[in-house]
This record gives sequence, structure tokens and C-alpha cells, in this order.
Amino acid sequence: MTSQPSVAIVGRQNVGKSTLLNRLTGRRQAITEDLPGTTRDRLYIPMNHAGRDFELVDTGGMEPLPQDTIARSVNDQVRSAMKAASVVVFLVDAKAGLTPQDHEIADEVRKSGKPVVLAVNKADNARLSLHAAEFHSLGFGEPMPVSAFHGRGVEDLLDRVVELLPEPEAVAKAAPGLRIAIAGRANVGKSSLLNALVGAERMIVSPIPGTTRDSIDTPIDTASGSVVLIDTAGIRRRGKIERGVEEYSVIRSLNAIDRADIVLIVLDASEPATAQDTHIAGYARDQGRGLILVVNKTDLLENVDMTEYDRNMAARFKFIPYAERLYVSARTGDGVDRVIPTSFEIQSERAKRIPTPDLNSLVRQALARHAPPSAGGKLLKVLYATQVGVCPPEIVFFVNDPKLVHFSFERFLENRLREVFGFAGTPIKFTFKSRG
Ligand code: GDP
Repeated sequence: MTSQPSVAIVGRQNVGKSTLLNRLTGRRQAITEDLPGTTRDRLYIPMNHAGRDFELVDTGGMEPLPQDTIARSVNDQVRSAMKAASVVVFLVDAKAGLTPQDHEIADEVRKSGKPVVLAVNKADNARLSLHAAEFHSLGFGEPMPVSAFHGRGVEDLLDRVVELLPEPEAVAKAAPGLRIAIAGRANVGKSSLLNALVGAERMIVSPIPGTTRDSIDTPIDTASGSVVLIDTAGIRRRGKIERGVEEYSVIRSLNAIDRADIVLIVLDASEPATAQDTHIAGYARDQGRGLILVVNKTDLLENVDMTEYDRNMAARFKFIPYAERLYVSARTGDGVDRVIPTSFEIQSERAKRIPTPDLNSLVRQALARHAPPSAGGKLLKVLYATQVGVCPPEIVFFVNDPKLVHFSFERFLENRLREVFGFAGTPIKFTFKSRG
């Protein structure tokens, strides 16, 4: 299996390593816990930035002068994290200024011989950012001011980290085809569904490791076209993370979602949908992926009114009303044959381009039907709309004042757009820009 380059964040205690980690990993923070001692084991969090995959290593606090065995082992862990890391982010604290401990850690970091990004945290405002200059003397080049708490400078930091990552070594060329991720929490039947899908189709080659160590790409040849199934089920290699198995399954799903066109959100028909299920679905939506709710284990449903069942399902996932819903049994094979064709249908919706004149005439009609919002006597005017992207479709509206656009109005426009142009199964991205 290919392993990803890893990035370690080091620094003395209280400089904000956990906060920065949570900020960098965004919604993937499920396996970190904000309790003392819980970050003492190294945890890896899969990341993707600017098209590069890597892992963030979560280390415990670093204590240059270990007083006890726990501290010593934490210190060892940090060293070993740096040893394994391709890039080190050395974090210091703008509010506290340069401390002797920072110098000691700097020596460790230097000894590691790794590319280093020096980040100065708690640079919450311009005045504190000025303090960043004092860290020049550490000898790691230009310090980057960040505020892990407020999110300032974090994108720039990631850009710099990604620049320093080693060139991907002859990464196995991604197989061509529609990329379908099989996502979902543990035990909903992801592996079983994969097997059912593969069993029904012709596997071209044996599964190959994905570009992350937790997913396996399985290229298959189907009547609808070439497909790459991105499977997250994998081995429970990190079962050691005690209360983390369920969360880890979710994190792996997020990672697979990042690399997919279409996401199968696999659910267990015999259990109510959980917050984890909606979390995964919400993430797939935010990433603009095609969405299919695949309700598995329908063989376990007895004497169930499916119309009502489906209505409840729609209500539970009402934040993605356009998602397709398929009812399957990986065990009996029922309904499985719909999965691939539906994925291709959604992909063609995702790739659709609406000609600008058609889009604008729809917007004009919609505005005539529904008075646009106003505030303080100022009326929203939509001057012009144009589709600027596909997969997912992205539409820009030029308006007199974006602040006048309310959620309900956006929802209304989206509904009208879907009534006329479809876009079944895919999120649509809307942007409102000021013009005039
Ligand atoms: P994963 O963790 O999501 O990959 O789930 P698995 O594929 O390992 O399945 C978890 C459990 O659910 C296993 O015991 C499967 O045999 C069972 N299972 C999977 N699909 C079905 C199904 O369609 N019907 C029934 N009754 N059980 C299923």
C-alpha cells in the first residue's frame, strides 16, 4: 500500500496545537478529543489540500525536559512523529513571545532535518502579528502568523505545507472511470455492498490500493461504463484507538468522499439513521458530490409500508431533498442493479450546462412570481446569472446587493431551477456577487 506523506505539528504546551489541528482538519476532528491526555497517542488524520493527500499527525504536548515517564514517552513520540513526518509545522505563541523552551524545541526540530514551517499562533490581530517577527531568530525563515482560534492565516499555512511535501512518487495512475465512494458508518454493509456490486459486474483488475492507505480502489467494467469503486471498509488497522472505531469509520468515509464523483451513503434499514449518517451526508453535500442514499438490509424489513418508510427517510434527510434514494439488500442482491446506472444518471446531471439565456429567462420568471426580498426600502435586483462550473453545477448571480439575499430566497431560486432543469442527485453551488 502507498503511504501518505505525513505532517507533524510540534511546539511546547499551550501554544495551541490541538486548536490548530482541529482548525486544519475542520469537520474531521471526530477522533481528537479536547481532554487532557487524550492526544497522547499519535493519531493520523487524512487531509487533502490543493489536490494533495497527506496525513496530519496529532502528537501530545512536547516537553523538552521530561520530568516523568509519561512526559518522556510523549517527548519520544514527538521525536518519532517528526522522524516519520515529511514536513514539520513548528508552532509558537505570539502572545507569550519567544521562550527558552521554544529554543530547545527548535534544536530538536533542526536535528530532525525536515522541512519546517514556523507558524506563530494567537496572532489574532495586526498588532500581535507584528510579534511574529521576533521569531525570525529561530532560524526557520519567515514566520507565518496564524490564529488557530479565528482561522486567520490557516489557508496560507496549508499552502506552504503542501509546497514542501515531497513530490508524489510514481503514484499508481488513477484508474479511469466514474468514481463512486461507498461511505457510511461501521456495519451498515459497505463491504457487503461492494461485493454485491463487484459480483454483478466484471472486475477488470484486482483491487489496487487507493491513494490513501485506508481506501481501496476497485475498477469495474459495467454496462453503463467504467467505474472505480472507492471502498473505505478496509482493515481495522487502527482498532487500537479505543472509542474511535465508529468515528474512524466516518473519517475514512470523508476521505473517500474527497476522491469521488458520486457518494453512496449506505444506511442500515433496520436501524434509525444516526447523527453519523447525516454528518457523512452533509459532508458529501458540502463537497459537491453526487448523492445516493443507499438503504441496505431491506431484507430485514417485514410488514413495512415502504411509501411511509421512504417519506420518513426523506424527512430525515431533508437537507438533501435532491439525493436519490435506493432500497437494496446486499445479502439477496435486491435493488443492487440500480446503483451503478443511477450513479451515471447523476453524473450526467452534474455535468449539465444551462445556456445563459435559458438561465436568465428562468430567473426573470421566478422574480416575477415571487417578489424579491428587500431591506430598508432597498429591493434585491438580480442583474444577470450564469453557470460558471460543472460537477457540481455552479451558478453565479450578479445582484445589486448580496446582503439582500436570504436563505429562503435562495431556496426558492434553487427549487425553480430544479423544477425546470433537473440536476437530480447533485448539489448546486450558488454564489451571489455584487454588481451595480
Ligand atoms: P461495513 O462495516 O459497513 O463494511 O459492513 P459489513 O459489510 O461488514 O456488514 C456488517 C454486517 O451486516 C455483516 O454481518 C453483514 O453480513 C450484514 N449485512 C450486510 N448487508 C446486509 C443485508 O443486505 N442484509 C442483512 N440482513 N445483513 C447484511
